[in-house]
Amino acid sequence: MRVYNTISKRKEEFIPLEEGKVKMYVCGPTVYNFIHIGNARPMIVFDTVRRYMEYRGYEVNYVSNFTDVDDKIIKKAIEEGVSAQEISKRYIEECKKDMEMMNVKPATTHPLATEEIGGMLEMIGQLIDKGYAYEVNGTVYFRTRKFEGYGKLSHKNLDDLRSGNRSLLVSGEDEKEDPLDFVLWKPKKEGEPAWASPWSEGRPGWHIECSVMSRKYLGEQIDIHAGGEDLVFPHHENEIAQSEACNGKEFAKYWLHNAFLNIDNRKMSKSLGNFFTVREISEKYDLQVLRFFMLSAHYRSPLNFSVELMEASKNSLERIVTAAENLKHLMGTAADKGMTESEFAHYEATEEFVKKFEEAMDDDFNTADAIAAVFELVKYLNTHTGAENTREYLEKCLERLKTLCDILGLAAEKKEELLEGDIEVLIEERQQARKAKNFARADEIRELLLEKGIILEDTREGVKWKRA
Ligand code: AMP
Ligand code: ZN
Repeated sequence: MRVYNTISKRKEEFIPLEEGKVKMYVCGPTVYNFIHIGNARPMIVFDTVRRYMEYRGYEVNYVSNFTDVDDKIIKKAIEEGVSAQEISKRYIEECKKDMEMMNVKPATTHPLATEEIGGMLEMIGQLIDKGYAYEVNGTVYFRTRKFEGYGKLSHKNLDDLRSGNRSLLVSGEDEKEDPLDFVLWKPKKEGEPAWASPWSEGRPGWHIECSVMSRKYLGEQIDIHAGGEDLVFPHHENEIAQSEACNGKEFAKYWLHNAFLNIDNRKMSKSLGNFFTVREISEKYDLQVLRFFMLSAHYRSPLNFSVELMEASKNSLERIVTAAENLKHLMGTAADKGMTESEFAHYEATEEFVKKFEEAMDDDFNTADAIAAVFELVKYLNTHTGAENTREYLEKCLERLKTLCDILGLAAEKKEELLEGDIEVLIEERQQARKAKNFARADEIRELLLEKGIILEDTREGVKWKRA
């Protein structure tokens, strides 16, 4: 398996630190609003990387944080007149719902910055002790000049950056020893969330979060660190400086970065206001379609969002689902016996498409080519299955299609959606069960509905329901 490493600027053979295991950290979103479809790109792409690693037999420890203390969260909290925690909690919940609809697996751990302050104080203290950080008026800065490898990830000319930044120095920052020094801890301003520390009552800088959470949940050295390409500098460059200065070891072996999702060929971003939230897209499309669209391009290629491409993705996905439905339909009446010799040969012939799929994914996760291999398989299945086939053959064919789709996180089978009438009937049955004090049955029905994505709410006016 070869992966493109931003630090070496080339594809390298993937060799894990520990045989059979992958330790992977993906920088997660800052939670002050619904996530937009640009934020969804790293989620979908790196979830696919994880799924492929798992398919290849690795045990993947996947950590992705939520940044829940930040200027933008505080601003939103002030606008709404609520606490910062209320804002972040709300949007973490909403983000998790979006992830589920996009078939993004929950991380092994989803740490929250605000729950890891102790670890941050510890690492900042260690950096000060080692001479890599200094405090001025309650603010702690990282001393970039002391860290020899500073700039190795972003390949930037640091002298140019220094002189550029010097002229940009804003008041209050002139206390820094070097324009490239960055904040590890800052004193609080009125009304901001704050924690006690040896330097001031305040809050951590953004970069230190990830160094700390990565070390706590994955150890001092990890295999893969990933995120969007805008994070290369300064965020990931600073993470390397903090972690390597503190731990004295190479931080991450492979650095993976996805290119941006654009709209009208311009970067999609919250600051430009030209974005769609994932939730908005979910009103028009099943989010499987969004997932398919994201994977139809290589993750390092810029991708332009358009209605045309979404429609094309919807049609393509439907071709896969139709092929799977067709196989299931044939299975319903197929002879219940073992594969014939010619069926065995046909089944073996489909291995070619699996091989193509694996070759594409082994080549730096080329999902575009992997999807092409899935379509070759679909075409083959459409022409090599029929009413004359045995159940075993059809089952194996379906299994093969589902396995490849599952690596991409695409459900080849239609979701069974409960109709309103069915839901009402079940709710009525649950009410009857409760009246009869058969609470086990009542709970069973609630669970059953939940599995189908229906959430029940017992209110004074009776039972209400909504789709998750
Ligand atoms: P943020 O909440 O801005 O920290 O972003 C969370 C993740 O989304 C980071 O990995 C960003 O690099 C990524 N991201 C933000 N906007 C885009 C975009 N338009 N296309 C691709 N990735 C993005
Ligand atoms: Zn990060």
